[in-house]
Amino acid sequence: MERSHGRGAVSGTDDPSFPARQAPRCTRLDELDDIVTRCRACPRLVAWREEVARVRRAAFRDWDYWGRPVPGFGDADASLAVVGLAPAAHGANRTGRMFTGDATGDFLFAALHEIGLASQPTSLHAGDGLTLRGVRLTAPVRCAPPENRPTANERDACRSWLSAELRLLAPRLRAVVALGGFGWQALLPAIRDTGRPLPRPRPVFGHGVHVVLPAGEGLPHPLHLLGSYHPSQRNTFTGRLTFPMLVGVLRRAAELAELPTGR
Ligand code: SF4
Repeated sequence: MERSHGRGAVSGTDDPSFPARQAPRCTRLDELDDIVTRCRACPRLVAWREEVARVRRAAFRDWDYWGRPVPGFGDADASLAVVGLAPAAHGANRTGRMFTGDATGDFLFAALHEIGLASQPTSLHAGDGLTLRGVRLTAPVRCAPPENRPTANERDACRSWLSAELRLLAPRLRAVVALGGFGWQALLPAIRDTGRPLPRPRPVFGHGVHVVLPAGEGLPHPLHLLGSYHPSQRNTFTGRLTFPMLVGVLRRAAELAELPTGR
């Protein structure tokens, strides 16, 4: 399965300052989505994502793995954002679309479909016709990390992409769901980067936690921040996160974002 790898050449992609230099310049989401896929700022993650793409899993040996940073996916006019952790090695790192191609994505897209925000309950590959309504899916780290564990330095290096995405979504954005404690922790400074003040002490992650972040300069609306356990297989297999639990948080967030929930 082939994906386009963008337009034109960009220099300095392996410079550690590449995200911080390039992301703030983006004035449109499609521009951001293109430039982020060029990033090579984290040597460990670049090596891992490309090694996984080269070796491949036996079940996907016919795939041309994406093997690059994964941009956000969904509605450019989203009023709800869902923020995970990072692409999975054989999921989004294979398909090139956020949350697409693994069990975590299956769980999430089924939940979004349940409340009428996804056009279909499955997400198989980037050309499967799936569309989202009013929702944008993204992550604080855009390259697949070994064992799903980015370092603090990698998280911080990647934050410029998320900050820029939230800035571009800000005029319409009303609610954000953080999937898991890592996403929550990474999301807070990215929200602050958009000019919105954070409460002190910082709000603590928990499933079902709902915090209203006040308006900021140029941001006339409050932003609703909600937490959900991450729909990882470890959480869903053990029952820590059930399907109704995830649907409940997403439905509440959609209502706060003034999105009609159809079911
Ligand atoms: S994790 Fe983020 S900052 Fe690091 S190489 Fe990937 S896209 Fe660039």
